Amino acid sequence: MKPVHELLIDLIRIPSVSALSNVPVIDYIVETLDSKIWNLCRLPYCDTAGIPKQNLLATMNSELDLPIELALVCHTDTVPYPEDWKEAVSPAIDDAKLFGRGAYDVKGALACILRAALEIRGKPRPIALVFTADEEIGCIGAKRLLAEKCISPRFCVVSEPTQLRPVIGGKGYGLGEVVIHGTEAHSALPNLGHSAIYDAALFIDRVKSLAGQLEEEENQAFAPPFTTLNLGTIHGGTAKNIIPGECRMLLEWRPIPGEAPDRVEREVTRILADLKCADPGFAGAFRVLRNDRGFATDSNGELVKLLERICGTSATTVSFGTEAPYFKQLGAETVVFGPGDMTVAHRSDEHVALIELGGATELLVRLIRELCG
Ligand SMILES: [Zn+2]
Repeated sequence: MKPVHELLIDLIRIPSVSALSNVPVIDYIVETLDSKIWNLCRLPYCDTAGIPKQNLLATMNSELDLPIELALVCHTDTVPYPEDWKEAVSPAIDDAKLFGRGAYDVKGALACILRAALEIRGKPRPIALVFTADEEIGCIGAKRLLAEKCISPRFCVVSEPTQLRPVIGGKGYGLGEVVIHGTEAHSALPNLGHSAIYDAALFIDRVKSLAGQLEEEENQAFAPPFTTLNLGTIHGGTAKNIIPGECRMLLEWRPIPGEAPDRVEREVTRILADLKCADPGFAGAFRVLRNDRGFATDSNGELVKLLERICGTSATTVSFGTEAPYFKQLGAETVVFGPGDMTVAHRSDEHVALIELGGATELLVRLIRELCG
């Protein structure tokens, strides 16, 4: 049986940035798991660029006619890496640390899950391993699993770098484009036109007020404890002597869990309607590009308490997005958990300490034994 760091070296050697097919990673997982013990179900699809992708469901003892007790979830794609970072897919060990893309996010955890799966003995209650595609570009694989409802575990651990602390809440992610339309005219004759940039300024002022209003609605589990808004980009006008005919902005928001999923969309639409009411010449449109909800798990949940006990740490929350909301919607008590630190992931010296891999594997083995017997 390969040690966990060798499994990780193999996984890092298979490039799986989201733009590429993840099927070679799925093939490796299928080859590693014993098909006499694991029931392996590939769920293929093509992404919007026509690239073949797969989710993989591996279940053990699912024929026992019992609900799946525990699902360990892990995505198989990584963020891109700079061309001159040679260890990215040719991993190197230095000073008891393993360097390579995905060492933390999240092939490190994937190697730990595979190693823990190889150590399962006896006939535990049904357990599932869920390997997803396209997490880094909007949790597309997990969204497909939710739509297909092909699994409903009682407990779910979503792998992300949390420094082995159970994470019981995460903010959501929203993104939308605002377009303000005006009428172009020669700047010497402004009365013949209608400035999209002046109208955008009115809109921006109202968005700033909305941000202030959202700050009042606190959820102290998060830092900062409210939904944040950011008008991140603005592009408008074509020349200094033309009344601008169009202004486009990107608005991003990170909603606290519990907020109505369409809250920001409704508020922005209302602002645009108010401005139109005040000036019939105002013309603005808002298009939501992404609206991923956050998640919050009861801090007294059975899985939360068990992980707190075996890890010796208290539960916490994170500000980054994960696949957890989708598995929560499938009805599972869901916790995000894994080796590594997100501040070291997504960097070009991404690495994991070998000792962390061993520790995380032991915790997973213990978790499986305690929950599934
Ligand atoms: Zn990740």
